[in-house]
Amino acid sequence: MAVEDGKKLRDHGLQSERLLWPTKGPGVFEQEVAAMEQAVGLTTLEKAVAWAQTKSMWPDTFGLACCAIEMMSIVSSRHDIARFGMEAFRASPRQADLLIVSGRVVHKMAAPIRQVYDQMLEPKWVIAMGACASSGGMFNNYTTLQGVDKILAVDVHVPGCPPRPEALMEGIVRLHEKVMAGVPPAYEIRGVAS
Ligand code: SF4
Repeated sequence: MAVEDGKKLRDHGLQSERLLWPTKGPGVFEQEVAAMEQAVGLTTLEKAVAWAQTKSMWPDTFGLACCAIEMMSIVSSRHDIARFGMEAFRASPRQADLLIVSGRVVHKMAAPIRQVYDQMLEPKWVIAMGACASSGGMFNNYTTLQGVDKILAVDVHVPGCPPRPEALMEGIVRLHEKVMAGVPPAYEIRGVAS
């Protein structure tokens, strides 16, 4: 509850004996309570928004190579990403806010991936799944981009070749923790995309 200028807590309906004393206040205690309530109210609102974002983070339907098979299995009953409200993989980037780059990125695919990313609305997040998406993996050659973070701002890297579905789930949980902690998306930190 925010206390307006010139008003006392009793004007907002608080009825303790101390506050109803007409010739007193606002005392130090009263001011501290008002400041605390204001701070708690703002914090709660921010946390509620972050919580809602983590419980409806819809991934884009996007698979590149072998890692994509592991990614697909997270919607199965065994791993059940529906626990996080994330089972709705979207066919349109305009309805998605999480891009899971699952597999090696060849140079030919860099422009389409960037286009998909640019079509996603903000806030949006990116997970680089597997060694290839994170660093090029074993494909240290002229065809393969040596890490998707050269063209996108990546929030979480998931190691492995391929990472098991549990590892991807771990990456998703880590991403949720970042959002809940108030860490801005990677594109804001790195300033490479919007
Ligand atoms: S990290 Fe391994 S499993 Fe994933 S795309 Fe590369 S080679 Fe395939």
